[in-house]
Amino acid sequence: MLNNQDLSRCNTFGLPCVAQTLFRFEQVSQLPTLSAAIKEYAQHRVLGGGSNVITHPDLAGLTIHVANKGIRLLCEHDNFWLVEASAGEVWHDFVAYTLEQGWYGLENLALIPGTVGAAPVQNIGAYGLELEQRVHSVLAWNLLEGELYEFSAEECEFSYRDSMFKRAKPGTWLIIAVRFRLPRQWQPLLQYPDLRDHASLQHAPTAQAVFEAVCEVRRTKLPDPAQVGNAGSFFKNPVVQAEQYAVLRTQHPNVVAYAQADGRYKLAAGWLIDQAGWKGREAGAVAMHPRQALVMTNCGGAVLEDVLNLAQQIQNDVQQKFGVQLEQEPVLYA
Ligand code: FAD
Ligand code: NAP
Repeated sequence: MLNNQDLSRCNTFGLPCVAQTLFRFEQVSQLPTLSAAIKEYAQHRVLGGGSNVITHPDLAGLTIHVANKGIRLLCEHDNFWLVEASAGEVWHDFVAYTLEQGWYGLENLALIPGTVGAAPVQNIGAYGLELEQRVHSVLAWNLLEGELYEFSAEECEFSYRDSMFKRAKPGTWLIIAVRFRLPRQWQPLLQYPDLRDHASLQHAPTAQAVFEAVCEVRRTKLPDPAQVGNAGSFFKNPVVQAEQYAVLRTQHPNVVAYAQADGRYKLAAGWLIDQAGWKGREAGAVAMHPRQALVMTNCGGAVLEDVLNLAQQIQNDVQQKFGVQLEQEPVLYA
């Protein structure tokens, strides 16, 4: 246990943050001790790479930093590879490693910051692939009960940027490893315009070519948290009923939306924010990015209040102009 640890470099937004007590989780043998230890604290929370959180400056109680490592091939089936990765592995490095081994299927999720263990929490997704399509099961320690569980993909109740882990009472689950089912019959997923139209992917693209194209597009469009503090998309894309979409389209014929399998429509939150006039706009020490209106950035010295104020202004404005409620994506650590 380490006291008064500065975490301002452990959250990609770069918000000032000090943890009262920090516990580094590195191996499974620590779990029983950890479950006993949390009883001593009024609050506790789990931290991975800090790329999907916004933080209070003082984190009271215990903060558990996930840092266990290891990747192994569990078995080879006729149709898939079963691969297990420990929660503290860096997500992008894990994706790169799977491709090096010839285990394809995660390439569309390249360059997403953070850890393997956080990936199921919001069912990470990009370029038409969601984590749930590749998860076999998730190994999670119930911190409150002190018990280990293995959840099948179905039991994780994945949905759009959501899972039962994200909906559970904060501090219940510590994901310790994720098992992936990677298809031996690989097919590229190229439905997103940035991949469909990419020059390098026009003729029988390989998984490595898709991986490189995803990295290149992301580096062009998104601010690198190492240079400009941010937590990725600040709002989820709202999914609305067909009736609401029909009304919106009458009022705003250019509205960007995608039909969902259940008949609803996913609205591009970036388009709503741009149309409401927030793209590239600064407010205090934060701004909405000039190339991607969905990403809030730290202009230098931002504090939590700046972030929450701008988020609230945008939510109010989008609600007033379009009648749509934007939901914040990053988790607030209080
Ligand atoms: P953290 O930010 O540390 O934690 C996020 C949440 O998960 C917290 O509630 C935390 O308590 C919980 N958590 C973390 N680890 C564990 C664990 N082991 N067990 C239980 N709970 C845990 N997301 C996408 O879906 N798609 C994208 O394309 C994408 N692009 C991004 C681009 C940028 C530039 C940035 C900054 C972020 C982006 N994100 C994206 C968001 C983010 O990278 C992902 O949500 C990522 O999975 C968060 O991982 P993390 O380890 O940083 O989690
Ligand atoms: P983009 O490709 O310009 O697309 C804009 C929006 O339209 C995205 O939100 C995407 O939804 C949606 N979209 C585009 N083509 C689609 C299709 N064929 N079917 C369904 N929806 C479609 O987005 P971008 O900003 O450059 O990001 C690229 C990808 O990385 C996206 O998948 C995005 O979600 C992901 N990303 C996520 C974060 C994060 O923090 N969560 C940050 C950066 C990038 P979806 O968002 O649902 O895919």
